[in-house]
Amino acid sequence: MITVLAGGTGSVKLVRGLAALTDDMAVISNVGDNIWLHGLYVCPDIDTIVYGLAGLLDEKRGWGVRGDSFECLAQMEKLGAPSWFGLGDKDLATHLTRTDMMKKGKSLSQVTDWMRSRYAISERVIPATDDEVVTKIVTDRGRMHLQEFWVKYRGEPAVSGVYYEGAKRARANRKAIDAIRRSDMVIIAPANPISSIGPIVALAGLRKELAKKRDKVMAVSPLIGEAAVSGPAVKYMKALRLASSPAGVGEYYSDFVGAFVIAPSDDNLAPRIRNLGMQVYKTNIIMKNRDDEIQLGRYLMDKVVGS
Ligand code: GDP
Repeated sequence: MITVLAGGTGSVKLVRGLAALTDDMAVISNVGDNIWLHGLYVCPDIDTIVYGLAGLLDEKRGWGVRGDSFECLAQMEKLGAPSWFGLGDKDLATHLTRTDMMKKGKSLSQVTDWMRSRYAISERVIPATDDEVVTKIVTDRGRMHLQEFWVKYRGEPAVSGVYYEGAKRARANRKAIDAIRRSDMVIIAPANPISSIGPIVALAGLRKELAKKRDKVMAVSPLIGEAAVSGPAVKYMKALRLASSPAGVGEYYSDFVGAFVIAPSDDNLAPRIRNLGMQVYKTNIIMKNRDDEIQLGRYLMDKVVGS
């Protein structure tokens, strides 16, 4: 069995690749970017993984349902409602139903499992916690929700810190802990280390469980050279005084990751990463199409089977 720790746009590519290779997979999803909007509970990372596995994802955007329309949002804008967060009409069906179920007492895990079954996905998708953990960004325009920083303000404000509100008192999802325990291998997807993996490993129980089987935990670098493949990872890493390179990501992961996969062009960083007590593997880690996704998935699975 394989367990993957995942965010959204980068993670879903590898998750899809692995899903093509195994029937026995659990995905532990980030909840730090969940947000209440218009009275609805929106879970962007969970939805990206579920839509991705169901073949419904708008792959160009990296979020939402392919071919969706935005009539409802346009109408809301006419009514003066804030419209900075894109919510497609079909996507809204997910948020409406999820929020209704939660208001009737279902947990986020139960609702996510319902989504999984409605979309006929065999992989388990497990929110890292059923408690509320919110990623907040400290900027020169004040503290704000991650989505406000990235979507509303287009990632423009200067960043001096990132923190996970609620993480100290939140309990790791029991099912996530069990999945890690039962897995032959845990993979940290190529994800934003601070805003996608950070909120998951901020849950003490979960981090402890990963650390216990560190030699079976393998991460894929979301950075190549000094740049992220996409998104604001470098901005957050600099704010946390981490080197903006795969070595910086390695340092951030070093207490719970035993093997790190980097691009061949980053070979010069291998000694620094090995000094953190990690094995280093080099292969193509850029996923431009399904073949790349499956190839990277197979590479990772072979490493564990072979070890
Ligand atoms: P988010 O929740 O939308 O930020 O999505 P993730 O955290 O899952 O993914 C974003 C991260 O994935 C960014 O830091 C990107 O640099 C990285 N990323 C995106 N595509 C790829 C890829 O094809 N390969 C690798 N190695 N990293 C990627």
